[in-house]
Amino acid sequence: MKAIDEEAFEKLRLSGRILRETREELKGFVRENMLIIEVCEKAEELIRRKGGKPAFPCNVSINEIAAHYTSPPNDIRRIPEKSLVKVDIGAHVDGYVTDTAVTICFNPEYREMVNAAEQALKKAVEAIRPEMPTSRLGALIEQTIRSRGFKPISNLTGHSVGRYLVHAGTSLPNVTHLSLTKVKVGEAYAIEPFVTVQNAVGKVENSPEATIFRFVKQKPLKNVYAKKLLKYIEEKFKTLPFTERWLQGIVPKEQHMEAFKELLISKAIMSYPVFIEASRKPVAQAEHTVLIVEDGCLVLT
Ligand code: MN
Ligand code: MN
Repeated sequence: MKAIDEEAFEKLRLSGRILRETREELKGFVRENMLIIEVCEKAEELIRRKGGKPAFPCNVSINEIAAHYTSPPNDIRRIPEKSLVKVDIGAHVDGYVTDTAVTICFNPEYREMVNAAEQALKKAVEAIRPEMPTSRLGALIEQTIRSRGFKPISNLTGHSVGRYLVHAGTSLPNVTHLSLTKVKVGEAYAIEPFVTVQNAVGKVENSPEATIFRFVKQKPLKNVYAKKLLKYIEEKFKTLPFTERWLQGIVPKEQHMEAFKELLISKAIMSYPVFIEASRKPVAQAEHTVLIVEDGCLVLT
């Protein structure tokens, strides 16, 4: 069996502990009518204060928004009353990434849907082990969700995590599918069932908005401020996602928008569109990162 070395293991465990504590503190922090940016900044500050770094911007995705929304700078949007709020956070310690999410439910009508996501995650955590086919894991998650009268989002998946990588190459679908991929001992995986209502399409589509970005490669750039911004991004975030909130004060305020636009157009950076449920139905999510060990898994978060 392949075992990860002691140092990597300790860093991964610390990353997971930081994230678990942060998630639990956020559950008591998030309130209806609160500014979304307050939640994002609180989450990222907690991760830093505990000795980690955010592995990606805190995602606060509300109702039919399934994933990938973080506050842009000076965001004035608030948490609506009676909403379903998915808070998805990532931390890393020296590049060792963990990823977790919780759905905070301000609408009793959706309580059962949140439970279905949590139960599907629990079943998956109990079942996952070395050499398990990812197709079997997907079937188990789907069955758990459907037996409670809900529907999994079929085009969102869990994923392996790696050093400075949130998505390290292996996907863990939340539905029955054809694949020969197997779970590997010594690997860390984020398991994340997404659940919606029975009469929804059960898929996400890209919305026109993007608030999260990632470095792709160095490109020849005209604008001197674009060059400066790209250098900062590559050094600071490497291959990990970032948000414009983390770029304030790097170049003069008046130059930022044009410089940032050039980075996108030149494809030096890429954007992650906000994912929205295709039929605009509410979505719940639960997520843990686990490390695969000989007799099952260790929940890191
Ligand atoms: Mn996540
Ligand atoms: Mn994830």
